[in-house]
Amino acid sequence: MKKIRRKRKIRVFRVVIAFSLFLTILYGLFYFFINNDSGSSSENVDDSIVNNLYKELIISDRESDSNIIKDVLTNGMNAIDFKKILDRKAIYITTKNTYKTMNYDFDKKLSYKDIEEYLYNMSSSDIVILENIGKSVDDRIIYGIEVGKGDKVLFIDGNIHAAEVGGTLFILKLLNDLVINYEDNVSEVKELLNNYKIVAIPSINPDGYEYVNFGIDTIRNKNLWIYKNKDNIDQFNSKFNANGVDLNRNFPTQNGALLFESEELINSVSLEKTTSIYKYYSGDSLASEPETRAFMYYFIKHYKNIHTYVNIHSQGRVLYAGKPNLTSEFNSLCKKTAQEISNITNYTVYGTDYEEVGEGNDGSVTDFASELAHGFKFSEKTGRLSSDKHIDNSSLLKYNYSVITLETMDRYTTDVKYFKDEWIYRNFKDLFISLLKNDY
Ligand SMILES: [Zn+2]
Repeated sequence: MKKIRRKRKIRVFRVVIAFSLFLTILYGLFYFFINNDSGSSSENVDDSIVNNLYKELIISDRESDSNIIKDVLTNGMNAIDFKKILDRKAIYITTKNTYKTMNYDFDKKLSYKDIEEYLYNMSSSDIVILENIGKSVDDRIIYGIEVGKGDKVLFIDGNIHAAEVGGTLFILKLLNDLVINYEDNVSEVKELLNNYKIVAIPSINPDGYEYVNFGIDTIRNKNLWIYKNKDNIDQFNSKFNANGVDLNRNFPTQNGALLFESEELINSVSLEKTTSIYKYYSGDSLASEPETRAFMYYFIKHYKNIHTYVNIHSQGRVLYAGKPNLTSEFNSLCKKTAQEISNITNYTVYGTDYEEVGEGNDGSVTDFASELAHGFKFSEKTGRLSSDKHIDNSSLLKYNYSVITLETMDRYTTDVKYFKDEWIYRNFKDLFISLLKNDY
């Protein structure tokens, strides 16, 4: 009896040792991957989240009044590619460095590498999560950053149009100041960031950021369309990404690159890649561009917690609020937020009269966000988000967030002193704090 028990004990002991060894190796591998040279790591997404998203966001056959569509200017998005976005695994960026105070006050023109340095430094604060959400056409990392621990989210992004670099710098200034205050134990900021969260994409178009600020030779892949057309490019006013696509027309939205019978193709719509700053080109197909897909991944990851979404441009000191094809409930929500922004910045509010539907220039990022708010689904048939009708004012607002296009500045510029003036004289600090709380 005793002998058997001893044998059994030894066997159990061996199993325990083997199992511990296995766990140690597993942990070692895991540790290796999260601390490897690039500082990046991947983390599995819960499969049930993806499956639920499939159910919520994909439908096989919706056509959105296809009988009234005259032309398809650009094909929709492949459903396999849409599913890839839902399946994408997070790549979090960690650094072994400890946080240090790095002040930023618009005093120097920053390269994208400089911006990365600020982001990496912020990521070592425990209030920040930094993520690689995709790569640009010219292979630059597009960053998504979360600052704050609350559930209620202000989502902001900048620089979807190359020349509109102000948004990137305003976002950097905002986040960097908040993290400095948090690390310095400023009590109001600590409280704010414990209750709310900013989720930001400082630059959706980093290749654009570089060539507008520092010239076309910053493009490393000389085979890219933009480099081959470099003689026609207006460095300081360009809109597009390195493939010559206006990213703000490349989103797979209900009206994205569709032309309706009743409308004429407006002359600013381009049917091919163009260097003209006055033309929109929506891409070879919707969501053809890696920058568009990076945004879609990150926005879908957060949209159910968003209370306000602000898409920052830099031309004209105006605010666009509302979509004529969507509910009045949504439009008044957007208008209210826009009015609050206007009260602080003195920018002009434009309502739904300033947005067109079905003229071939839809497919903007705010169309995408607004349609998701209304529970539109991706139709495998058309390759676009879709409801039952192309103008569907009767659909229901499913997620209660406002969507704003914030046009800062009076014109395109890369001169940093103008950004500093705008930040100070248009009360941007107060603006973003009030947007973060959105207690309107
Ligand atoms: Zn713009």
